[in-house]
Amino acid sequence: MPGLIKRADIDEVRSRVNIADVVGDYVTLKGAGVGSLKGLCPFHDERSPSFHVRPQVGRYHCFGCGEDGDVFSFIQKTDHTTFQEAVERMAARINFTLHYEDGGQASDHGNRARLLAANEAAREFYVEQLTGADADPARRFLGQRGFDPAAAQRFGVGFAPKSFDAIRSHLKGRGFSEEELVTSGLLSQGDRNAYDRFRGRLIWPIRDVTGATIGFGARKLLDDDNGPKYLNTPETPVYHKSQVLYGLDLARKDISRSKRVVIVEGYTDVMACHLAGVTTAVATCGTSFGVDHIKVLRPMLGDVRGADASSLGEVVFTFDPDEAGQRAASRAFAEEQRFAAQTFVAVAPDGLDPCDLRLNRGDDAVRRLVDGKRPMFEFMIKRTLDGHDLETVEGRVAALRSSAPVVAGIRDASLTQGYVRSLAGWLGLDPDEVGTAVDAARRTVAAQPKAVERLAPSSDPSRQSITSLPEAEPVDEGPSILRLPDDLSTRMERDALMAILQHPASAPRDLTIQAAFSVFVNGSLGVVRDAIAASLDHLDAPNFVDLVLEQTPGPFAGLVRELAMGPLPEREGADVALYCAGILGSLVERDLLRQKAELLGQMHRTDVRAEPEKRREIGQKLVEVEAARRILRNE
Ligand code: ZN
Repeated sequence: MPGLIKRADIDEVRSRVNIADVVGDYVTLKGAGVGSLKGLCPFHDERSPSFHVRPQVGRYHCFGCGEDGDVFSFIQKTDHTTFQEAVERMAARINFTLHYEDGGQASDHGNRARLLAANEAAREFYVEQLTGADADPARRFLGQRGFDPAAAQRFGVGFAPKSFDAIRSHLKGRGFSEEELVTSGLLSQGDRNAYDRFRGRLIWPIRDVTGATIGFGARKLLDDDNGPKYLNTPETPVYHKSQVLYGLDLARKDISRSKRVVIVEGYTDVMACHLAGVTTAVATCGTSFGVDHIKVLRPMLGDVRGADASSLGEVVFTFDPDEAGQRAASRAFAEEQRFAAQTFVAVAPDGLDPCDLRLNRGDDAVRRLVDGKRPMFEFMIKRTLDGHDLETVEGRVAALRSSAPVVAGIRDASLTQGYVRSLAGWLGLDPDEVGTAVDAARRTVAAQPKAVERLAPSSDPSRQSITSLPEAEPVDEGPSILRLPDDLSTRMERDALMAILQHPASAPRDLTIQAAFSVFVNGSLGVVRDAIAASLDHLDAPNFVDLVLEQTPGPFAGLVRELAMGPLPEREGADVALYCAGILGSLVERDLLRQKAELLGQMHRTDVRAEPEKRREIGQKLVEVEAARRILRNE
């Protein structure tokens, strides 16, 4: 049993730890008058810093949301620890030995310190294994990607032996219990006993901002490994994948200094960027970039009130944020509109990721990649134009029709105006005509909600007397089933999502997957579809709706809950599986018809003599769409 820490020790640790250093791991602080520092509050969403730290007093206070406390409550709130764990972590930070009442001792089973210790011991073990004879495939993998032993050492890369009992027996020998090792995600629990989760894989340690190892990413190396290409630590008390960014421990200081973060897709891309001198690169771990990642990064990027756009922090994606696998990224920024203006995309012309770019073209090319960034909205609009032939009137009209919704989705009015003019220029059309099309598009996506998550008003009366409150924002009602437009298309999309959320495993799996990737008319329902698309691995999970909610941007959570609860328009006694397959089938059929119409249009615009190859390609796609429709009808 964990014992109470002696009162005097708690006070001693509190007075010895510099709260500015601790907070500084999470928030970029700058001077704010005598004895005071300030930065962006990690507890609420703000653009101008109202989070103050007074190192002499050992306390922090936020004038925006009223959060207030000492170094222990800061750790408790940001890292979700108990009070005792917060004290223990701070004591460890300054090498202070705590004393416990009545001969008690440090909290043990499953607590944060034990899990971090297990992870640290595992990291050392994996690193040692990388030099062994078995690790040949691992060293070859690194070498082929341009990483020498020094690079492997710099990033703490290791190797998990191909064994069910390597890390298990090693760490049990170090005094860790099987329960602790299962809780830490290092072992998987089998029917009879627990066994190594990572076997025959290259291992990257994933660390938090303080440098503590909280989990691992593991890549498959062996042909007989039937697992996924990448395997990560599951959710544990110390590892939350929606918030974790690989490389943040290495990049944090440079992110604060340069006010820039570069988001790449994988572990090797992070390594390549840092080695090439782009030391602000981080990657998500086994999940798409989402709103929670923005919350982690925002305080480090440190905006200031009244700053012009050029001095705002920058987020640079090195991949197309709207590609299927990463669609959540552009959603996240559409959600966090104030951040969107600071979001850029830098994609190599030939689509090489930073790792391959460094391998083929050298360090310089990686640095130039980031310098060639374009604003995210410009990138997204231009990408919709790419699919159209702007030489013809029909092509320009079609291009306007498909790009207008992108411009309409920008909620910052000053940006919208700018992009209306830019789009008019790119299309060679009159700005008024483009403005009209954008207005029309805005009305059809009217169901899209405003983004900012509302915080409950502070009950702290002292807050009322502060004059410099952050600017108030209009309160919007989130999207709701009740406010969806009542047309055939929207109803079909709503019913299909209800069917998946309420009976995820009823319809044939392929059909559910196709439905989750069809084009939606309604913007809000499209957000729910994306969250479902990101959860397709868990259709059989009993808590499927919870898993979808984890992928859902905050303001849409209510809509997901409504869709998961609302009455299905099924008849009494009707077969649920049949109903679900029916409604998903209709949705997929609609999507195939849309694809067909699009392809026929393209076919029409293609000159068979000038572009026989393109015409053949379109014809082939048409055949595929028709085949898919036939399969659908026979099911
Ligand atoms: Zn606050």
